[in-house]
Amino acid sequence: MTHRILTKLRAATPQLWINPQRDPAIPMGLSDSAFQPQGMQVAQERFARFAPLLANLFPELAAMDGRIESALQPVPAMQKALGLSVAQGQLWVKADHSLPVAGSIKARGGFHEVLEVAERLAVEHGLLRPDADYRALAQPAARALFARHQIAVGSTGNLGMAIGVLAAALGFRAVVHMSTEAKEWKKQRLRLRGVEVVEHTGDYEQAVAGGRSLAQTDPLCHFVDDERSLSLFMGYSAAALHLQVQLRAQGVQVDAQHPLIVYLPCGVGGAPAGIAWGLHQLFGAHVHCFFAEPVQSPCFLVHMLATDGSSPSVYDFGLSNQTEADGLAVPRASLLAASVMSKLLAGVFTVEDQTLFDHLAQLMATEGMRIEPSAAAGFSGPGQLGSSAPACPGANHVVWTTGGLLVPDAQYQTFLDRAVTQPTPTPL
Ligand SMILES: *Cc1c(COP(=O)(O)O)cnc(C)c1O
Repeated sequence: MTHRILTKLRAATPQLWINPQRDPAIPMGLSDSAFQPQGMQVAQERFARFAPLLANLFPELAAMDGRIESALQPVPAMQKALGLSVAQGQLWVKADHSLPVAGSIKARGGFHEVLEVAERLAVEHGLLRPDADYRALAQPAARALFARHQIAVGSTGNLGMAIGVLAAALGFRAVVHMSTEAKEWKKQRLRLRGVEVVEHTGDYEQAVAGGRSLAQTDPLCHFVDDERSLSLFMGYSAAALHLQVQLRAQGVQVDAQHPLIVYLPCGVGGAPAGIAWGLHQLFGAHVHCFFAEPVQSPCFLVHMLATDGSSPSVYDFGLSNQTEADGLAVPRASLLAASVMSKLLAGVFTVEDQTLFDHLAQLMATEGMRIEPSAAAGFSGPGQLGSSAPACPGANHVVWTTGGLLVPDAQYQTFLDRAVTQPTPTPL
């Protein structure tokens, strides 16, 4: 069994791995006291406190009163195009590709950590009392305080965009460490917003390491550590609370006859693990979270397969970590995310880049949704699962589309051009 999986892994062949350790009876999956179950409520309340300030800082948030949220939408035309029959359940998209300001799922974790830092500093300096109007943080006293501090992050792009844009808007010195291979338009966009971009040769892991060690030399610098941060994690987890409200509003039940199957694109693992952890607290054994990874960057899968406690990288398996899904191009999983998921994860499936482009184009053709390649990774989940799961008409399949809003038109067109499969709707 494991031998077959390893053979496919090394050959970069798409596959589905089911987690034999899954034990949803342990809802937290953790003994670490840092993971208090109320962490997701705390994060949600923090977002709510900051909403009026965010609405003032970013005109595009005014209509939402400063709330950073995305729609949950049925996608029947995409479901047809994928050949997923109604006997297998209903297909939904959780549309984080449209999250304002950041344009990706990083708005959840990344914004949360910046807000937590700003809140802590303001409280420490007597600028914010409990129940205060947080719009005070746009006043000169708070901005002068933030200007003395730096917020830094290492990123393949989207995390840097979220952290950099919000930190700069609040008045912090914002520094984003990127690998040289990161997309040029992302670097430009950050520089336009007043963010300092530091380029590092090598991959994502090296950019993070470089940023982390530079930040350690500055006591007034907060480094957002994508591989270890609890604040990011809790920011992501709060998505579960909103999804629960959305499911109720759509009349969707979650129980043994109506399993909720969630497909989450996975890079370092923080975003999908935070959301999965939150969903498990709300839905227990009835939610099944699958992580989606590129065939060349299956870092979470190789971590889960390592039974000797090591934390291998995809390079150890002869893989290249080269993928157009830049949000997922990560060689080694976050240990924090992996420890949370060891008993909660339903499974991992891997996807070829060509499939990402095909699904990206199909989603535009069928539903008019514009996503980036990383965000397309979840769409092969229902098909991969199809053969190994019994048909369950009550199932709800939620594909989390994690980014896309800010992709420039010319860049998006190059993604469309790489699709070979044009949508061929099949009758249900
Ligand atoms: C970062 C990112 C992910 C995955 O998040 P991780 O925390 O790295 O696992 C998925 N999709 C997009 C578009 C991203 O930017």
